[in-house]
Amino acid sequence: MRRRLVVIGNGMAGARAVEEILARGGAGLFDITMFGDEPYGNYNRIMLSHVLSGEESDADIFLNALPWYQQNNITLHVGVRVDRIDKFSKHVFAADGRVEPYDDLIIATGSRSHLPPMEGTYAPSGAVRHGVFTFRTLDDTRKMIQFANNEHHGRAVVIGGGLLGLEAAHGLQANGLDVAVVHSGRHLMNAQLGPDGGAILRRSVEALGIKVHTESRTTAILGTERITGVSLHDQRELDCDMVVVTAGIRPNVDVAVVSGLPVERGIVVDDHLRVMDEDHIFAVGSACSTAVRSTDWWRHCGSRPRCWPIKSPGRIVHRCTWGPGPPPN
Ligand SMILES: Cc1cc2nc3c(=O)[nH]c(=O)nc-3n(C[C@H](O)[C@H](O)[C@H](O)COP(=O)(O)OP(=O)(O)OC[C@H]3O[C@@H](n4cnc5c(N)ncnc54)[C@H](O)[C@@H]3O)c2cc1C
Repeated sequence: MRRRLVVIGNGMAGARAVEEILARGGAGLFDITMFGDEPYGNYNRIMLSHVLSGEESDADIFLNALPWYQQNNITLHVGVRVDRIDKFSKHVFAADGRVEPYDDLIIATGSRSHLPPMEGTYAPSGAVRHGVFTFRTLDDTRKMIQFANNEHHGRAVVIGGGLLGLEAAHGLQANGLDVAVVHSGRHLMNAQLGPDGGAILRRSVEALGIKVHTESRTTAILGTERITGVSLHDQRELDCDMVVVTAGIRPNVDVAVVSGLPVERGIVVDDHLRVMDEDHIFAVGSACSTAVRSTDWWRHCGSRPRCWPIKSPGRIVHRCTWGPGPPPN
């Protein structure tokens, strides 16, 4: 008898897990239902940096557009968020009122951008202020491009000098902005590089015309009607029209927490990506963590990564991605 497989999250790991299941004859074994709270098919999130810089268009980065789901008899609830799992009756409950039964469940809810506490980040309504951006989704990227291309917006501050921050800085510069990166670490990409590598990277980034402020913490985003700058912990102020926050990510574990699943740094899985103490619930991608802690981005993804040098500031960092195909130029 066919089993009902439900996947929560239609990002890189969730969709790739389904591709792998289909490649192993899963179409004959499962009725597959996916929920994704982004309003799209599956796209290559890693390539958002190239979309921001204008090297790729939105359409170029789709891995599985909506027709792919139909062609593979997958029911995709696009733009629908799952709020809760009842692991005893084996149902998932979606925000649109849908209740979906499952025999096997994969949680692939990924991560979201972390916004560190800074005065001036939020409007009185509680929403993030106009002109303050995170860099995680296609919608984030589109909004940044639109804002950056407004003729009144000429300067950007990127908070966080990790890989994502440098890619954001490079992309914003490609949109014609004057960009400064504010990084709390002693050197850029301090999680991946030592001081010498960080110094080389800084020289390469500065040679591109991007200003770098290391050992600097942003305490406030300034301006009332519109963003006018940021203030740093040492009282310095940097003028800008927009702020992009790339100060780390947090796993999306809310659905697991409210459903009584084990969560530490992420959803806790064993070596088979099975959620601890659950026979029929699995978790893949950046929402999960093994019992052994790791800060490697790719380590917990549902498939094996490959790494290759990328075109980025300094060209000395590595991009990891999944699946076949040649390295990006
Ligand atoms: C610009 C950029 C560049 C990157 N570059 C690299 C790189 O070079 N190398 C590298 O290793 N990694 C890189 N990453 C990180 C990489 O993209 C992630 O590690 C990867 O996307 C994780 O896959 P995932 O499926 O776990 O999560 P995601 O791709 O984030 O997908 C999770 C999906 O689930 C959805 N979702 C969440 N909660 C729910 C819910 N309750 N119900 C329904 N849907 C839900 C989310 O909206 C999202 O669509 C980069 C990320 C960005 C943003």
